Amino acid sequence: VLDYSAYHSTAVQAAAPSRTLRIAVLSREGGAYSTRRIVEEGAARGHVIEVIDTTRCYMMINPLQPEIHYDGARLPRYDAVIPRIGTSVTAYGAALMRQFEASGTYCVNGAEGIVASRDKLHAHQILSRSRIGMPATAFAASPKDTDNLIALVGNAPLVVKLLESTQGKGVVLAETRRAAQSVISAFRGLKANFLVQHFVKEAGGEDIRCMVIGGRVVATMLRRAESGEFRSNLHQGGSAEPVKITRAERDTAIRAARAFRMGLAGVDLLRAHDGPQVLEVNSSPGFEGIEKATGRNIVAALFEEIEKKVRPTVARRRSP
Ligand code: ADP
Repeated sequence: VLDYSAYHSTAVQAAAPSRTLRIAVLSREGGAYSTRRIVEEGAARGHVIEVIDTTRCYMMINPLQPEIHYDGARLPRYDAVIPRIGTSVTAYGAALMRQFEASGTYCVNGAEGIVASRDKLHAHQILSRSRIGMPATAFAASPKDTDNLIALVGNAPLVVKLLESTQGKGVVLAETRRAAQSVISAFRGLKANFLVQHFVKEAGGEDIRCMVIGGRVVATMLRRAESGEFRSNLHQGGSAEPVKITRAERDTAIRAARAFRMGLAGVDLLRAHDGPQVLEVNSSPGFEGIEKATGRNIVAALFEEIEKKVRPTVARRRSP
């Protein structure tokens, strides 16, 4: 078990900066690579970075001023908040983000985008509203419509996904119609929510992760599935390498991040015959895999964006 307490609510500061910002990172994983990188990079740039455990924040909701408290004291006003909200605490994390948004703090990603992106069905509806390419996706409530669903996305092979799947864990390839029917009936038996999706065979077990920060693609990597596997997630044994993307892919990634109003987004897309198709827009993309694969300093780009968006109202003195 990692001891995260060293990070929680710890202010880290470096040499006298010209524009010191006070920035909160909402995270329950102070020891994780991505959180550590934010703390180190922020400190190196002269900012005050505080890592705050999402689930330890509590809120005072009143008609006057939205308050957020932590461990017996009211939290100060932050110039910016970087949410790194885990999938197990999405609803509470979103409530907290709404509280920060209501107090006028600059939030790298907002509650609405985070919540929408965590539900694959909702996320595809948002992408579709912006006319962003995606694999044909269908959803039904009644078991009577299983065959209709399968027919809509163009028969087997097809992909069945739990709506809240992450790291590829709830994603199944059904090679035949029979297999699709049994997977669907098993998911229904478990009362799990899922969608049915056209299998983009030509992607060949590869997908592209585009890191979008402030409306720009700052890094891209190609993830390749292990042999015999169609899911390219690094958690499923996939490997990563830098990749050059096309203009259409770049535009698609930028538009996808914009559809969720995210200042920081990891957009995953497939290379399909008829162009890029978005699978997912991630509001807390990990930095380790993509920084290592591309050698890019992604966290620096994140701070450049925050520094651009936030103008500190008062010059702050260094705290001891
Ligand atoms: P998760 O959020 O659990 O990672 P994804 O939708 O991103 O779920 O799917 C996991 C992986 O499975 C993707 O990275 C991709 O490699 C593969 N995959 C998902 N959907 C499709 C599809 N429709 N066609 C081809 N491959 C897919």
